[in-house]
Amino acid sequence: MRVAVLSDIHANIRALDAILAQVGSVEAVWHLGDVVGYGPEPDAVVDRLRERGAIGVRGNHDLAATGDDVIRDFNIDARAAMEWTRRVIAPATLDWLAALPMRLTIGSYSLVHGSPRDPTWEYIVAESVAAANLAVLSTRYGLFGHTHLPIAYVVADNGIADQDIDVLTPEPGTTLAVHGRRALINPGSVGQPRDGDPRASALVLDVTSHVVTWVRAAYDVEATQRAMRASKLPPRGIARLSFGI
Ligand code: ZN
Repeated sequence: MRVAVLSDIHANIRALDAILAQVGSVEAVWHLGDVVGYGPEPDAVVDRLRERGAIGVRGNHDLAATGDDVIRDFNIDARAAMEWTRRVIAPATLDWLAALPMRLTIGSYSLVHGSPRDPTWEYIVAESVAAANLAVLSTRYGLFGHTHLPIAYVVADNGIADQDIDVLTPEPGTTLAVHGRRALINPGSVGQPRDGDPRASALVLDVTSHVVTWVRAAYDVEATQRAMRASKLPPRGIARLSFGI
């Protein structure tokens, strides 16, 4: 069974539609949170995920959108974009976001936004952090987002020490067979990539063979930037989309 795994869409409908087209026919869509925030089309993105029957988890921006006071911890641009999001978002979108769980287990896969031990906030950006999280991962495989960087941390079935971790930084089209091992896997960001490539990033997962394939899709970045300018979203958030940083 082929599944599209999407994270950090950040209210960027053009990026979402481009990556869904690139992925092609899939039997399920899983998302890893931060559906909204930064971008100009929160309602359209949630509508599309709902149409596709997507299931997934809540990110820190989704939590902030539903009124939680975590917005205090956001940097100035994220906060300004979130205040705008809260003003424009439709009640039905808010209801959908508010119903997202912090974590989800589907077969051998755990879905979280940040990390298995701190699903909303922790960034897995180092091998030591990945090792600590592999140690507490209750399923064989973990899917996470939050860093906006495509990566995989893979260990042998019983290995969780730092030195045993294989770190894979994938290119578009890279495939990884994790069957028989344990892994934490990040698809990268659909709507605000930060690995220097402005194209939308995601992965396709075969949940039968446990093979993952990273994919990229170009989209009309300038159209998204025009929509952001029209909504007076923060200039730095607009500029970074051109570079994927
Ligand atoms: Zn994010």
